[in-house]
Amino acid sequence: MKNQFRSIILLFLGVVLGVLPLFAAHIAMRDYVKTRGESFLDQTAQRTLMRAEDFVQDAVDVLSALPHYRVPVCDDALRESFRVMMMRHPAIHDVGLLYNGEYMYCSSMKGSTHFGAASEASLGGVPHLSFRAVQDNLTEKNGLLVEWTVARFVSIGAFIRVDSLGEQSMQTDLANSYRLSLKLDSGDVVTSSTPESRLQQRAPFYQFTPSEEWTRDLIEREVNSSRYPLVVSVAIPFHAVWESYGGVINVIDAFGIFTGVLIMFLFVRMALRKPDPYVSLEKAIRRKEFVPYYQPILDIQSGRLAGCEVLVRWRKPDGTVVSPGHFIDMAESTGLALPMTALLMEQVAKDLSESYADHPDLKVAINLFNRHFDDLAIVREAEQVFGNSGVRFSQLVFEVTERLPLENLDRARAIIVRMQELGIRVALDDAGTGHGGFAYLQKLGMDIIKIDKLFVDTITADSKHVPIIDSLSQMAKGMDMVVVAEGVETDEQLDYLRRSGIDEAQGFLFSPALPASAYLQLVDALGGMRRPKAIKDGLETSRTDLAS
Ligand code: C2E
Ligand code: CA
Ligand code: CA
Repeated sequence: MKNQFRSIILLFLGVVLGVLPLFAAHIAMRDYVKTRGESFLDQTAQRTLMRAEDFVQDAVDVLSALPHYRVPVCDDALRESFRVMMMRHPAIHDVGLLYNGEYMYCSSMKGSTHFGAASEASLGGVPHLSFRAVQDNLTEKNGLLVEWTVARFVSIGAFIRVDSLGEQSMQTDLANSYRLSLKLDSGDVVTSSTPESRLQQRAPFYQFTPSEEWTRDLIEREVNSSRYPLVVSVAIPFHAVWESYGGVINVIDAFGIFTGVLIMFLFVRMALRKPDPYVSLEKAIRRKEFVPYYQPILDIQSGRLAGCEVLVRWRKPDGTVVSPGHFIDMAESTGLALPMTALLMEQVAKDLSESYADHPDLKVAINLFNRHFDDLAIVREAEQVFGNSGVRFSQLVFEVTERLPLENLDRARAIIVRMQELGIRVALDDAGTGHGGFAYLQKLGMDIIKIDKLFVDTITADSKHVPIIDSLSQMAKGMDMVVVAEGVETDEQLDYLRRSGIDEAQGFLFSPALPASAYLQLVDALGGMRRPKAIKDGLETSRTDLAS
């Protein structure tokens, strides 16, 4: 339940955090595109303005070099000087005397020019200098007329045609998409251009479909001249800049998608990952979630309760009880088997102390792992846990399985001897299934042999003779060992085992492994009245009668 919740949270986080880079990449990209558009416009406007300023400067230079102290007379000499001026400054298309600002009656050109004057703006601080956006009636070219007033109605003018004012955009993909206008600060437009007009100039017959998006999402810039009443304003649609960065955008988007997917993947992996078994086992040990269950063992010759075998169960906080098959191997391979056994022994001591003190003939068998036979730690632990408990060493049985080999038989033997010196008995579990066989029994000096369920299962209703059981039993008797049969499920099996002289048995026929309280009730029920300690210790303890 908790894990499911965690997975959902992680999946949710994965999706949210995975989408973020996409958005972030896109937002960053919009910002980037906008600044790139602005810097393109700034540069285009600056260049255009600088060029315009240079030409105006030329015109002012020309005009200031002419005699202003008197009203000029339009003679050949003046014409010649106009012509020389004009030649020296190729940007200036005409220099001449103007009458009433409209008619260049004394022009450097052969003919005379008539301007369609648009408006007038005076340059601050120089009252005799004015600037006008005009159109040359002859050529129909727009331009800038710079005038120096010399007398009432009379001025000297220099005409700069827009051709030379020309726009100075940088050669980028954006060069085709912007709008520009050069204006006087009065607002009069000297010249303007659009993508259409520029295209028209280069390819007059081309049908241009104007873009509809011109009015919205425009990036705009305006630059004012500090020297003359000139302003350049430029604009470009955002989408045009965006499109021109298509390649970069794809890369950034791809990066955003990649990062997003990566983050999602990591979170999904985290969400789906099973919790580390070591960590969860370790936590379960710390929280004492491993509890002993007790499977009763019966003396099948007398019918009395002989004791029990401790079988571990993992009781999870949500109440589920997990069988050892799901975690024993993991406990063994992670090395957590030892602390788990220690925990079980402590709980066994707690559960049984009181009851077992009253029933000294009842035994309790605890399963050990092969690793317990690597050193004497288990003997010290047993002394520590049971030394001062109601469970006597003589009631304790340690089971060693034959399924897995012991690493060092001599060392194991030494440890078993130490156990036996304390009074603890040692049983060979799963006898007949594994590696040891007779050699094990002999070398390790076992006290008890437990015949595996595998062999008990072979006993059927019409079994007359089950060789493996008979020979194990005979061999055990020869070595003065108690024989316990495991996994007894039917009356036929019980009958056969009893007839074969087997001492004890456990199995579902009698009882599965029980929680402590149930087992203790059973001991109480079968154990009769408790006797006061003082008397009891002096008495020969009698077995509880199980016979039905
Ligand atoms: P085991 O030591 O051979 O324990 C007997 C197993 O057979 C137990 O399974 C028990 O519940 C089951 N059993 C008993 N009577 C019958 C029966 O009549 N029919 C059937 N079908 N099964 C029966 P469990 O409790 O699942 O334990 C499985 C194994 O896990 C144990 O086999 C033992 O090797 C290991 N184990 C259990 N508890 C511990 C423990 O505390 N320490 C160690 N080292 N191993 C343990
Ligand atoms: Ca066992
Ligand atoms: Ca067994």
